[in-house]
Amino acid sequence: MNLLRAIPAINRLIHDKRIQETINRYHIPMMTVKDVFRRVTDEMRDVILRDEAPSNWTVDTMFDETIQRGLHELVDEQRQRLQPVINGTGTVIHTNLGRSKLAHSAVERVRMVTDSYSTLEYDLTYGARGSRHDLVEERIKALTGAEAAIVVNNNAAAVYMVLSAFAKGYEVIVSRGELIEIGGSFRVSRIMEESGAKLREVGTTNKTHASDYESAIQDDTAMIMKVHTSNFTMQGFTASVDRETVSQLAKTQSVISYEDLGSGSLIDLSQYGISQEPSVNQVIHSGVDIVSFSVDKLLGGPQAGIIAGKKKYIDQLKRHQLARVLRVDKMTYAALDETLRLMQTDEWHQIPTLHTIFKDEFTIEEAVNTVITKLPHLIDLSVAIEKTNSQVGGGTLPDVTLPSYSLAVQSHSLSSERLAERLRKNTPAIIARVENDTVWLDFRTIDDHEHAMIIDVLADIDQSINFTS
Ligand SMILES: *Cc1c(COP(=O)(O)O)cnc(C)c1O
Repeated sequence: MNLLRAIPAINRLIHDKRIQETINRYHIPMMTVKDVFRRVTDEMRDVILRDEAPSNWTVDTMFDETIQRGLHELVDEQRQRLQPVINGTGTVIHTNLGRSKLAHSAVERVRMVTDSYSTLEYDLTYGARGSRHDLVEERIKALTGAEAAIVVNNNAAAVYMVLSAFAKGYEVIVSRGELIEIGGSFRVSRIMEESGAKLREVGTTNKTHASDYESAIQDDTAMIMKVHTSNFTMQGFTASVDRETVSQLAKTQSVISYEDLGSGSLIDLSQYGISQEPSVNQVIHSGVDIVSFSVDKLLGGPQAGIIAGKKKYIDQLKRHQLARVLRVDKMTYAALDETLRLMQTDEWHQIPTLHTIFKDEFTIEEAVNTVITKLPHLIDLSVAIEKTNSQVGGGTLPDVTLPSYSLAVQSHSLSSERLAERLRKNTPAIIARVENDTVWLDFRTIDDHEHAMIIDVLADIDQSINFTS
């Protein structure tokens, strides 16, 4: 029990030189330091009471042991939970890694409106209150051909708002083939339940016909909804009803037609041989009353959702209480406005998400080869260039694979999991794919300015392994 008494007092610990240095370096509040040491000493006390103290804990080493544990926790607590990473996965719109990177000019616009007051809701012409709904609407109208538009927190919020505003207490007809779940947390049927709308499923999983929709329409039908089956494709014996037919049917029966487009590309991707996805503009022109789509998927902007369509419906949404609940911040408007501006010019390929999707495989091949030639002589690690496929991701374009090249890395002494962990522990963290006992860095999603960091890290890991073995 001498060990118990050897646990130092918190006051002694905080005056230690190493702790003082750490406090000064990271500007840690004294309250935090005391909390950390209270936690550390409590834990050590428990370990001793359970008779599980390691053999190197002696009366003489207890002070240092406590300091080391405290330092470790203090530094750990200062680590930012949200930090930049290098995406080596090859998945362009990676939801876990923040989906879309913003264009430099969009970041600059965010800075401009956040370190000053701004015209978020102020009309400079009249010197009076303005509306944030007017900030980007003209650009969305120009790009999509819609009569009007509103921006909300994300596309899930858009779906919720459209259903609440137009179908609460009424039926919404959806094809069984389109009742999807995205990313494990967005389920059309659940959102519909939350909104108060009643789901009326028609057709079967693989086949839905126009007559299925038609015979389901009754007095309390408010809407026919189509959902983009973003994250899967069905093949074989399938049938679905095209949007022209659905919107025409809705019109003749006086119900609203609404399509949740998911990614919503503003450019016609088929023109570039990427996918058969129609652009938002094409969907609007097919006669659908309302569409909604994400801003941080194929549009490459900040997190937000756009609802566009007939003016009479969008005006109703702007006046709805939920418009206040789901509204977005000035940072989002600034980044979105600039992203849309780029979309309207021939600079749209500066939008990182589009730039990355359109990167050609030979440029990527060259990048991997350059990195390989710049690497120093490696002893433990072996690297090779391999042809791989990247994905668009974000639950978009599941049937599209983008030809790419990867750096395949293996270690003679570390498992691929351990090697990937070493890459993650770097600052900035490098996120790789682990497959077939190999670590894969797909260079489609890695920028040129990140190459030097990758070279340094691989060289460092190689050296540290040689040093310890
Ligand atoms: C991604 C997606 C959503 C959710 O959009 P968020 O912007 O992530 O909220 C909804 N519907 C479809 C079809 C999607 O693909």
